[in-house]
Amino acid sequence: MTQIYAYIPFKNGSAEDVALEFPAAAKKIDEAASLTAVVTGSGADLDKVAGEMAKIYGEVIKIDHADLAYPNGEIIRKALTHVLPADAVVLVGHDTLGMDLAPGLSVKMGSAYAADIVDFQGVDGSVLKAVRQELGGAVSTHVTIDISAGAVMTIRPGSFAPVDGADAGGSVVDKSGEAGDLSSSRKFLEVVEAEAGDVDITKSDVLVSIGRGIEDEENIEVAQELADAMKAVVSCSRPIVDAKWLEKSRQVGTSGQTVKPKVYMAMGISGSFQHMGGIKGNPFIVAVNKNPKAPIFQVADLGIVEDILAFMPELTEAIEDL
Ligand SMILES: Cc1cc2nc3c(=O)[nH]c(=O)nc-3n(C[C@H](O)[C@H](O)[C@H](O)COP(=O)(O)OP(=O)(O)OC[C@H]3O[C@@H](n4cnc5c(N)ncnc54)[C@H](O)[C@@H]3O)c2cc1C
Repeated sequence: MTQIYAYIPFKNGSAEDVALEFPAAAKKIDEAASLTAVVTGSGADLDKVAGEMAKIYGEVIKIDHADLAYPNGEIIRKALTHVLPADAVVLVGHDTLGMDLAPGLSVKMGSAYAADIVDFQGVDGSVLKAVRQELGGAVSTHVTIDISAGAVMTIRPGSFAPVDGADAGGSVVDKSGEAGDLSSSRKFLEVVEAEAGDVDITKSDVLVSIGRGIEDEENIEVAQELADAMKAVVSCSRPIVDAKWLEKSRQVGTSGQTVKPKVYMAMGISGSFQHMGGIKGNPFIVAVNKNPKAPIFQVADLGIVEDILAFMPELTEAIEDL
């Protein structure tokens, strides 16, 4: 039986969605795995998340320290190295914090490291089989990871089915006293909120999201007409913002906004993990792309191989005719 630790990221007292996805990932490593959640932070927010996680995980390790109030990979690494066994198998979300925390953690623990895992195919002895994506999702790579001396692995959010309504009745174990010296060279100063844009894409149930496939700034009007017909809002991928065709506040992704719509229309978007990382809440994804091998089709609920510049006006007209 493999003992697995899941590091739980959270913000404002709410665990990130990946916290609900670690149990399915752990099961794909080892059906009989024993899974422990680890939460670090400070005060009431930490206690709230630890309590929530005890409904999902059999055991929750809590590390409470003022210096952990803001998630800083350098400090969390120190705490985890002191609290976890040297050969721990640790799952971390492949998000901004995870990418900061995980590589150094594996170095400090002297364990294997694998990033951006989208699937596991079981463990045989100490050899774990995993699937990663590379080259922006264009290639799936099958790797083996020797976990005999432990492993730190980042999991791409959205790759494993979330737990639904569990009540594990788990216990919270306070290991704050074992965290050791948490001094750091990097200090948290302040949170600078992004400037509010002309529209708030995070509030819309339906997003018509355009990518590089829109080809020209003038064509954005075509997407806007579709959005108007669908009572939706236009969002976009990063190249559209880089080209200054739309405001930064419309960008979906790890360096843009996190959105939770019910329907996500991905128009001429390839489906990079940086883009998909900003889409939460399991929306119904409609992808239109003229390349049948575009990675977005792997996650889309409905995939249409078509030129968006032909597709969008037709759909707008069909909706208006309803
Ligand atoms: C640190 C970092 C952070 C990043 N953060 C973000 C982020 O927050 N958000 C984000 O989006 N990206 C982000 N990126 C960029 C990301 O890696 C991708 O480059 C980007 O998401 C690609 O955008 P795209 O899908 O629009 O363009 P492309 O990858 O170029 O894809 C365009 C797609 O359109 C299709 N297409 C072209 N013409 C048509 C047509 N007429 N009809 C139909 N389909 C067509 C093509 O087949 C292709 O699949 C980040 C990158 C880094 C390094």
